[in-house]
Amino acid sequence: MAEKIIMMTEQRGNAPAIPATLETPTGLLSDRLARPLHDLRISVTDRCNFRCVYCMPKAVFNNDYQYLPHTSLLSFEEITRIAKLFIAHGVEKIRLTGGEPLLRKNIEKLIGMLAELKTVSGKPLDLTLTTNASLLARKAQSLKDAGLQRVTVSLDALDNTIFQRMNDVDFAVGDVLKGIDAAHQVGLGPIKINMVVKGGMNDQEIVPMARHFRGSPYILRFIEYMDVGASNGWKMDEVIPSAEVIRRISAEMPLEPVAANYTGETAARWRYTDGSGEVGVISSVSQAFCSDCTRARLSTEGKLYTCLFATSGHDLRALLREGRSDAEISTALAHLWRAREDRYSELRTSQTEALRRSANKVEMSYIGG
Ligand code: SF4
Repeated sequence: MAEKIIMMTEQRGNAPAIPATLETPTGLLSDRLARPLHDLRISVTDRCNFRCVYCMPKAVFNNDYQYLPHTSLLSFEEITRIAKLFIAHGVEKIRLTGGEPLLRKNIEKLIGMLAELKTVSGKPLDLTLTTNASLLARKAQSLKDAGLQRVTVSLDALDNTIFQRMNDVDFAVGDVLKGIDAAHQVGLGPIKINMVVKGGMNDQEIVPMARHFRGSPYILRFIEYMDVGASNGWKMDEVIPSAEVIRRISAEMPLEPVAANYTGETAARWRYTDGSGEVGVISSVSQAFCSDCTRARLSTEGKLYTCLFATSGHDLRALLREGRSDAEISTALAHLWRAREDRYSELRTSQTEALRRSANKVEMSYIGG
């Protein structure tokens, strides 16, 4: 497997061409499949203090692993400048990811800079962050004070033995729960809890997780295990389809479907029939939602990916560091988005296992989930 791993330092993708005619952003940009540009996910570090088996397995991300040097990372000023250009094209939601974003030094400073930005219609950005919560108890208040609105927490099991087997660094589940409570106390909500379900690894935790978070202020979401990157050895038969997740929960705590909050919502919503809250299921494998995918991803070193499963990115950092103007970079972004036709998940089932494995997909810890 090792020869298939994509090193973070590898130069993947070129600087996009600058079109001859510069254009003024209108806030209305659509790709080839008529999908608007609405969300930007920004990876602020390629490092994580967990070694989750489906994301940063220890066998690959060990002491010899070469992480990006600090000079390769986008600075906070560079990130904010790019964010502004995306917002002018219609982005209303920014999610900070990693790696583990709370490991980026002075992340509160970046949050403060992004929190000052306004959407095209003059509203505050929907500014959020996905975290493993290991540092959340310590940082919740400073994140809130900096202007973060809410957090999403990754939590794959409640059973400590299973959780520690998954994070592979002996981090205790109780400390994650303390972090979630701290975030709630300071008003970083609504808080979503994401559980990646891998058959044979943690699927016995589906019902205990539902039981635990039912009636709480937190929204639990189950995510189908995906073939992101090349290092997790994904197999289709390890995917527990969302329909099965709902069936298992409903057998004990009956659920009924709820309409989506908005077009492009990744999670299908289900509520308990007794009114004790709701859960979500993200069916990235069994029911792909590419047709509503409005997300762009910016890697730690400033490459733009138009799909989580992309094999190469567009080097925006090169444009920044060679002194291109806002108008030039903005026009290049518009052209990239208009040319977008990614729909990997919709095509996945028609591919053979060999084809899926041969694709040189970028790692999730590099561009965020
Ligand atoms: S596979 Fe790509 S295009 Fe489809 S939903 Fe995922 S990120 Fe979006």
